[in-house]
Amino acid sequence: MTDRKQDNGKRVVVIGGGVIGCLTALYLHRLGASPVILEKGSAGHEASWAGAGILCPIHPWLYQDSFTHLIEDSLALYPELSNMLLEMTGISVQWRTTGLLIPFFEDDRIHHHDNALAWSERFGWPVERLDTAQTQAHEPTISAQVQGALLWPEVGQVRNPRLLAAARKALEICGVPIREQAEVTGLNENAQGEVISVTLANGETIAADAVLLAAGSWSGELGSKIGVSLPVEPVKGQIVLLKDKPGRVNHIIKHDDAYMVPRVDGHILVGASMERVGFKSGTTAAVINQLLEATYRITPGLKDAQIVQQWMGFRPGSPDGMPYLGPVEGHPGLWVASGHYRNGVALAPGTADLMSRWIMGEAPHFDLSDFRVNRPAIDKAKVGFPVV
Ligand SMILES: Cc1cc2nc3c(=O)[nH]c(=O)nc-3n(C[C@H](O)[C@H](O)[C@H](O)COP(=O)(O)OP(=O)(O)OC[C@H]3O[C@@H](n4cnc5c(N)ncnc54)[C@H](O)[C@@H]3O)c2cc1C
Repeated sequence: MTDRKQDNGKRVVVIGGGVIGCLTALYLHRLGASPVILEKGSAGHEASWAGAGILCPIHPWLYQDSFTHLIEDSLALYPELSNMLLEMTGISVQWRTTGLLIPFFEDDRIHHHDNALAWSERFGWPVERLDTAQTQAHEPTISAQVQGALLWPEVGQVRNPRLLAAARKALEICGVPIREQAEVTGLNENAQGEVISVTLANGETIAADAVLLAAGSWSGELGSKIGVSLPVEPVKGQIVLLKDKPGRVNHIIKHDDAYMVPRVDGHILVGASMERVGFKSGTTAAVINQLLEATYRITPGLKDAQIVQQWMGFRPGSPDGMPYLGPVEGHPGLWVASGHYRNGVALAPGTADLMSRWIMGEAPHFDLSDFRVNRPAIDKAKVGFPVV
């Protein structure tokens, strides 16, 4: 044993240095715990780096209502989080409100209009109905075929790499250890079935008062080592980055096969594929071309935009698209925050706040049974899980 429990606070081993692990560790530190992050590669370089940073579920009306409550709690924390990170680290996560626009075309494959309006009314999310002329006035590059749109003016976005860089710097300032190239290969239980330590690939054992499994798409594999069933699978997403003059796209635009996220400097992030190909990494010409074709159909005015970069990441996909949150029944000491699928950045501050308090002994203030680890699985197709 090369690492000992510390005396000055609950020792929490956080497995995974993505946005969920990093922010939860930061919030745990604020509550007086002594977290340590164990990361198999480099912290903040998997899904959390790759994501588009849209701070709203893609189609929230497809999920259970409890999911919207979780999202709302999380989004409410973004202003405070981004200010705290800016003050501590000097890094702006570029949290800003650009609004989300869903345009409608005659040949739409999925008709979201009525469900979207009903959901917005039920939860009090401001939404505007735009006709063709108004849509074109909002988005000058959009197709002449557009038949109107719905606009949620209060939807925001962040830049993921900045969020991760800021979280990392804040952790360093707080003295929270981030151990990289430290792959956890085992979860160890005592005779009572309590999880009391983890083992690393190099054979080292690290003791813990609590272990948080926040290993994104890899969480299921680790859980299975002690018989915990966590059906999280990677759903690969490819993204292509365009560059045009600032103002060519003003809102996040989402349609059937692509979304566009405008950055303040004229970059436009186009995403994202949904692929069930296991952990097969790398971008492919076929998928990037599909994304571009979809983009040019929605916003032909972007045909001249420069293609700057492309990348991919593995979304941690739970069957119902909702995260697993909380203690693991039958394995005291083990906690899970994983399976955030397409919404982990939006859900990150809420997850971190909730999980840190819960691990430190404060019961959650609303019913989280829809997010429990052993909930029944539902039909994946409902939340847009791609058919293999
Ligand atoms: C293309 C794309 C677009 C997206 N767009 C959005 C969006 O617009 N808005 C939004 O809210 N969400 C979006 N998401 C989803 C979001 O990025 C994820 O839900 C979120 O990043 C998950 O965070 P995480 O920390 O659970 O996982 P990750 O970021 O994958 O982090 C998990 C970490 O655990 C580490 N790890 C794994 N196994 C081990 C082990 N055995 N030992 C130690 N470390 C381990 C990994 O190396 C990794 O660093 C998108 C995702 C993708 C891929």
